[in-house]
Amino acid sequence: MYSQLADELESLKATDLYRRLRRVETETGPWATVEGRRMLMLGSNDYLGLASHPRVREAAKEAVDRWGAGAGGSRLTTGNLAIHEELEAQLAALKGSEAALLFTSGYLAATGTIPALAGRSDLILSDALNHACLIDGCRLSGAEVRIYRHGDAGHARELLADRGRFRRALVITDGVFSMDGDVAPLPHLHALSRETETWLMVDDAHATGVLGQQGGGTAEYFGLPQNDIIHMGTLSKALGSQGGFIAAPTVVVDYLRNRARSFVFDTALTPAAAGAALAALAIVREEPQRRDKLMENARLLRELLKIETQDTITPIIPVLIGEAQKALDLAETLERQGIRAPAIRPPTVPSGTARLRLSVTAARRSWM
Ligand SMILES: *Cc1c(COP(=O)(O)O)cnc(C)c1O
Repeated sequence: MYSQLADELESLKATDLYRRLRRVETETGPWATVEGRRMLMLGSNDYLGLASHPRVREAAKEAVDRWGAGAGGSRLTTGNLAIHEELEAQLAALKGSEAALLFTSGYLAATGTIPALAGRSDLILSDALNHACLIDGCRLSGAEVRIYRHGDAGHARELLADRGRFRRALVITDGVFSMDGDVAPLPHLHALSRETETWLMVDDAHATGVLGQQGGGTAEYFGLPQNDIIHMGTLSKALGSQGGFIAAPTVVVDYLRNRARSFVFDTALTPAAAGAALAALAIVREEPQRRDKLMENARLLRELLKIETQDTITPIIPVLIGEAQKALDLAETLERQGIRAPAIRPPTVPSGTARLRLSVTAARRSWM
């Protein structure tokens, strides 16, 4: 009955694009036991080591004790807990925005927000290497989507030449690109958005808590006025929890609260995730040295591997291989030596650019 699917899976296997899960049997951190073997973990997004931090764990437990295991309803019906509002206020503060809105994942923040902000009469400019959740949000919106060359604000400008034909225009970019570790040319995109009355949305999944003096992300790193940008983020990377958010001017947040379908029709974030994120935000504020340690570890690993990357300010280090099969072989070789460095293949990255995607964490004290 499902033989077509089986056939397709076979062809994925034949082209080295089949994916399988690896079972992690201890808590993940710099080291973890994967399918019975102790491994050096070199691909985690838990950049600051907060997922297993005692204070963050404790806050998750306290939130469960106080609020229960689930929120019991959507935010607009019965599930709007005080802890959600507290977390939104702190996320807005971190981002230098007037307001913030929680979603239950970054993926849902993107796929709810983009179609709420743009529709059939509108134009979206999207970086060629944007994350899949942004691509899906663009597709759902029904807007005209134009892809500009990766990191090329000049190309984005060219594609905006007939801006006047559209009701609205929206530029969307990752802040730090998830599989390349480079940083978007945000000052140029920001200037462009000002000049052409185009909204600017930045997916800061990998920059929140990581870039900027306060950990505010890409806009803070560049010293841009943060309030006119629509920041998207996740609680599930440097903040070590789970959930997503938008931080933006009050009017945008108010609009999304009414119009973003993945907000309106989704049960509110679980209290444990909110509590954990609040504790993580406190640590992000109080312990900037974690960001220094993260950058130091990234520098060390780049040096160790003799990898020159364009941007040396992010914890993501891509080792470009090319063919999917070669990347897979290398990852398996490393795995036999006790190193978990995931191979990233299409469709996560463009065809012919398979790679190992390494990342470091501030929790790693040494490389031994
Ligand atoms: C991980 C990631 C997301 C999705 O966030 P989740 O909270 O895990 O759903 C969105 N954008 C980028 C760039 C990411 O790397």
